[in-house]
Amino acid sequence: MNGKIALVTGGSRGIGRAIALQLAKDGCDVAVLYAGRREAADQTVSLLEAAGARALAIQCDVSDGEAAAAAVGEVEKTLGPIAILVNNAGIIRDGLTMRMSSEDFRAVIDVNLTGAFHMIRACLPGFVRRRAGRIVNITSVSGMMGNPGQANYASSKAGLIGLTKTVAREVASRGVTVNAVAPGFIETDMTAGMNEAALQKGLSAVPMGRIGKPEDVANAVSFLASDAAGYVTGCVLKVDGGMYI
Ligand code: NDP
Repeated sequence: MNGKIALVTGGSRGIGRAIALQLAKDGCDVAVLYAGRREAADQTVSLLEAAGARALAIQCDVSDGEAAAAAVGEVEKTLGPIAILVNNAGIIRDGLTMRMSSEDFRAVIDVNLTGAFHMIRACLPGFVRRRAGRIVNITSVSGMMGNPGQANYASSKAGLIGLTKTVAREVASRGVTVNAVAPGFIETDMTAGMNEAALQKGLSAVPMGRIGKPEDVANAVSFLASDAAGYVTGCVLKVDGGMYI
């Protein structure tokens, strides 16, 4: 992937940072978008540069369509034409459906699903024009199996699978592939807040008996973004230690 430009949303921390770093090791120059944690984003940039990549961090709320388009423009102006888009930015606002506010439902859909749509819409014209492009959307096994307390999150992630398959069909003949990676239970800030009982319950559902690492997800993204995956589109690759079989 030498010299290719990759854009990773939510690249300041966790899974997004691991994906950005793996793509840098694969030879890409990498831009990351983040919501507000500037220090974390700057740290990612330092790590990317240490890996030999040109790197850039842009604060951008992906749920804002104009901001998403502007960020894509800025990346292309600074680094060059984007070849790989990874929609990784995501949030949770868990609660049982009966008690979930419309605001919490909407906020999660806006970032996790509409945000990915905004980024794809902004990148696609260039991908189609160049007859090349890779899109990888980070969904979740929650979106495939459902998860109590996550009506908003599971809906957003199931929607992301529908988006992946639809865009894959739309642009397959233009040399653009669109795939999803569905992580299970991964050790990041998102799962760090869980209490011991919830953690043990989560782990008991994983046949491999261990929590996944951000790098486990990054390796799958790296494959789907590579030339080796040239005939793979519209797929959902689970990285979940067997949680959902
Ligand atoms: P983290 O909470 O550790 O990081 C979230 C990232 O998304 C941060 O970089 C954050 O930026 C960014 N972000 C949040 N909101 C926005 C927004 N509106 N616009 C742009 N960027 C935003 O999450 P994880 O690394 O755990 O998760 C990454 C992805 O993987 C998510 O889509 C998540 O749903 C998915 N996933 C995670 C699993 C897990 O077990 N951890 C399991 C299955 C799926 P900032 O640092 O500035 O806040």
